[in-house]
Amino acid sequence: MNVNDSEVVVSILGKNGYTLTGKAEEADLIFINTCSIRENAEQRVRGRLDHFRKVKSQYPDIKIGVIGCMAERLKEQLLDEEKMVDMVIGPDAYRDIPALLETVDNGEKAVNVILSRKETYADIMPVRLDKNGVTAFVSIMRGCNNMCAYCVVPYTRGGERSRDPESILNEVKDLFSKGYREVTLLGQNVNSFQWQHPDGHTTGFPELLDAVAAISPLLRVRFATSHPKDMTDEVLHVMARYSNICKSIHLPAQSGSSRMLEKMNRRYTREWYLERIQAIRTIIPDCAVSTDLIAGFCNETEEDHKQTLSLMKNATFDFAYMFKYSERPKTLAQRKYKDDVPEEVKTQRLNEIIALQQELSVQSKQQDIGNIFEVLVEGISKKSNEELFGRTSQNKVVVFPAEQYKAGDYVNVKIQDSTPATLLGEAVK
Ligand code: SAH
Ligand code: SF4
Repeated sequence: MNVNDSEVVVSILGKNGYTLTGKAEEADLIFINTCSIRENAEQRVRGRLDHFRKVKSQYPDIKIGVIGCMAERLKEQLLDEEKMVDMVIGPDAYRDIPALLETVDNGEKAVNVILSRKETYADIMPVRLDKNGVTAFVSIMRGCNNMCAYCVVPYTRGGERSRDPESILNEVKDLFSKGYREVTLLGQNVNSFQWQHPDGHTTGFPELLDAVAAISPLLRVRFATSHPKDMTDEVLHVMARYSNICKSIHLPAQSGSSRMLEKMNRRYTREWYLERIQAIRTIIPDCAVSTDLIAGFCNETEEDHKQTLSLMKNATFDFAYMFKYSERPKTLAQRKYKDDVPEEVKTQRLNEIIALQQELSVQSKQQDIGNIFEVLVEGISKKSNEELFGRTSQNKVVVFPAEQYKAGDYVNVKIQDSTPATLLGEAVK
């Protein structure tokens, strides 16, 4: 999501005469797009700021802006804490950047952290920062209304709003015409996408997904993230109908304990979650499922933790993002609950979760050996110029000998082996 936001910012700056440079010393302006989701994300931003502090001491004319969620969370405080920062710009204020730059040119500091109920940057064509020219992110909504107890997103990115479907379809068509072959539709909770047309008709996520997939059978469509409480069979049926909608669902569980899920305000139970997994398996048998898990949320007991491990085994996740709970200012959990799981217990539980997922991920890849998958080539493999890498519909990375193929091609690859992170194979004629 931040990559896509940066692309919007580059587009806005481009209209004001700026171009991108990869070298800090050449820059007139450095923007740092930030994340507040966990404390260590913010610590990394502080580390990056330390680096740019040195750059600025050598090149004092460079202007430095902090944009995104950390800007929103800390507001003016950031200017007091980081003296060399000239601009603080929240995620809904990017259209104001040209005006803020003028303020800075006049020797003042500039801040805009106003959140909007409407802003979706619908009319701004993002300037793609990825270099492969094959895969792109398309933002379909912003903000979140869910108020999960641990989560800072509703405070830093504001309330949920969907983007005009016509502008989404135009952006995707434009990408396809420029050679892109895969789009990922982005939102904090894509299943609650909703757009009311002037005639009263409402476009929901299944209709949007259907319309994007219908653009071309040669365009792969992915989406993230799906909140389990809103993951309907209707979406699954649309996925099953189109071979170009990738058979991969990111369905963050967070915990396997209904007691924790209630405390987290996730609004589903363990049973509901597993029933949704069952629905996926029934309607789309070849679908991969990935998840997010949090270890050590407030008051989590050993029994709750065991429930998470058992949910993982039950759902046989193909992939997972796994985190230690990190208390975030202003959230419901910070205001109401005690962050009372000791750090070493959090670490131990997280390690157990990671070890189990490692096993599940290995299993998931081994099952693929001997099978043929259609791979969309994204580029040359990191390890060798003679090899290409791409992904299966199930979002698994495949490396295979390049032969005559190139980025953007669809290639049928027979899987012969796997490493912990990658499938290895060979093109079949
Ligand atoms: N909207 C998505 C997730 C966005 S944040 C969803 O609801 O699934 C990405 C992930 O970060 C979350 O799924 C959660 O696992 C993790 N996360 C969010 N807040 C966190 C916190 N305070 N501590 C640890 N992990 C957190
Ligand atoms: Fe955060 Fe929950 Fe919204 Fe996801 S759904 S962004 S976890 S509040």
